[in-house]
Amino acid sequence: MNKPEELRKIKEDMENDKSLPLVKKPEDIIPGDGNCDSEIVFVGEAGGYHESIQRKPFVGNAGMLLNKLLASIHLPRESVYITNMVKTRPPENRDPLPEELAAYSRYLDRELDVICPRVIVTLGRFSMAKFLPNARISGVHGKKFEVNWNGKNILVVPMYHPAAALRNGAVMEQIKDDFLKLPSYLKEIESKIEVEQTQLF
Ligand code: URA
Repeated sequence: MNKPEELRKIKEDMENDKSLPLVKKPEDIIPGDGNCDSEIVFVGEAGGYHESIQRKPFVGNAGMLLNKLLASIHLPRESVYITNMVKTRPPENRDPLPEELAAYSRYLDRELDVICPRVIVTLGRFSMAKFLPNARISGVHGKKFEVNWNGKNILVVPMYHPAAALRNGAVMEQIKDDFLKLPSYLKEIESKIEVEQTQLF
């Protein structure tokens, strides 16, 4: 199976998984979206109203801000992959519960195995906690952390959630600054990839 086929299979498996919380019908699932060959993956929290209608992550107000932040560093949204910890909409957009995060985590792991990103940007504290369990967002946002993920070294960059930035002007300034650091992290990774490729020959 190629990558799009594998991602389609993950979506179908979620749609057919009767054990998943918050799912009444297969269409409740909001699969990840974007470029499956991207070196960078953005992981949010859970879908909201607009995401549940369009079945696409980050298409509401927080998504519009995310698009602007990506544009500020000349990364078209279509060039990256975007997904959520919980691939449905919790009622009244409440925070996901620990058991919901746990139930969906194996599907996020499968997505990451397919895409194999070199950089994961976590949006908000729930996705940060998956990769950096002891971190506090106020102390680590915008910094890069080398993490061994399933035997591969990746960079994890925790960011504030765009919805938090929409509520708080200081967080908005922080997230804008933090995004401006991403191109240098990506450059660093690209140089590493080049070195790895020359070592292969
Ligand atoms: N917030 C998220 O964390 N994910 C979305 O898809 C939309 C809003």
